[in-house]
Amino acid sequence: MIGAFAYRDGQLMAEGIALGDIAARFGTPCYVYSRQAIEARWQAYNEAFGDTDHLICYAVKANSNLAILDTLARLGSGFDIVSGGELQRVIEAGGEPEKTVFSGVGKQADEMHKALDVGIKCFNVESLEELDRLNQVAAERDVKAPVSFRVNPDVDVKTHPYIATGLKQNKFGIPWEEAFTAYEQAASMNHIEVTGIDCHIGSQITAIDPFINALERLMDLTRQIEAAGITLRHIDVGGGLGIPYKDESPPTEAEFVSALRQVFANRVEQIIIEPGRSIVGNAGVLLTRVEYLKHTPHKNFAIVDAAMNDLLRPSLYGAWHEILPVHEAPPGEQTYDIVGPVCETGDFLGQGRTLDLRVGDLLAVGSAGAYGFCMSSNYNTRPRACEVMLDKGVMHEIRKRETVADLLQPETTLP
Ligand SMILES: *Cc1c(COP(=O)(O)O)cnc(C)c1O
Repeated sequence: MIGAFAYRDGQLMAEGIALGDIAARFGTPCYVYSRQAIEARWQAYNEAFGDTDHLICYAVKANSNLAILDTLARLGSGFDIVSGGELQRVIEAGGEPEKTVFSGVGKQADEMHKALDVGIKCFNVESLEELDRLNQVAAERDVKAPVSFRVNPDVDVKTHPYIATGLKQNKFGIPWEEAFTAYEQAASMNHIEVTGIDCHIGSQITAIDPFINALERLMDLTRQIEAAGITLRHIDVGGGLGIPYKDESPPTEAEFVSALRQVFANRVEQIIIEPGRSIVGNAGVLLTRVEYLKHTPHKNFAIVDAAMNDLLRPSLYGAWHEILPVHEAPPGEQTYDIVGPVCETGDFLGQGRTLDLRVGDLLAVGSAGAYGFCMSSNYNTRPRACEVMLDKGVMHEIRKRETVADLLQPETTLP
């Protein structure tokens, strides 16, 4: 079993559909998501909040396919975006701008204009320079921009250094020592309306303590801001709850939210969370087919038709993803590195896996719903994979496989 996908009668399936049938219809490599699994995770957060005033802002960057955003918008989800492009996706998918928060360290003036135009809920501002620019943009439009500062609480989290974001040496957020002054400054600006406070300490965090430590620091600051006569309407705790890829045992949504509710027990502000990975990560797999089995004196390689351009996480972070045969088989005796066709030694999906393989076999790479397709590229002029969403026994192609013609189309040679 991997996430939402389990064996039935020897076939890896989800929502009553065999992955082998999906590969037969749409080819490989192919991303497959379960709508039911995505909805279940969102609902788990939502139910855990009970009657506490809250808003779940799904982090679009984890998987930004329009069908995924639409699925969540229909549940009433809000969104956390990091670019004007993601804002356009949210709107296209029927998401509500009033439930959308805008994060990121490099917001451009035209992105600010667009966001003010549609009326987003809040800009999560990450520097005083950004605040100045936003004040200026809002002045040109003669409006007030709703602002929360992303405060960097300087807490250490046990995660990969590339996805730890709440340390003082990281590029993210307003340094802890400067945050109060930033609030005073923002409150005095004509075209800024202070509405909240936020933080996001990192991703794939599998313990509750780092969140609570960060939030307790955030609450100290909140009390200080309050005492200065500035009213906050929401507290945004960011995203980052980890998922099981291998043997991690992260807290459940219920445990996580229950700990949050304890920290905020006496508060009246709306609580916002920005989960990405934990909503979609284990709702997806990447389907791939074995092209060659290459045995060398030192190692065995299974060369498959998916590569680092399709799923970057193993190459980028050394991330471990479960890899299972689509047709159930005993583990076998050979150990393989599962590699793609890309011309890089770092192009692997898994290393040292014991699998009983034959050319033509289908494999499912697990936990690929988050930071999978959305991080894929056309490196080596490889068209990006198609994406399929399963919904109660029906397979929907939610993104067509690219063609080489698609890739070449925007390019021109010199006259
Ligand atoms: C990436 C990101 C998230 C989502 O993180 P997950 O680990 O996927 O839950 C939330 N908020 C911000 C600001 C982010 O950059």
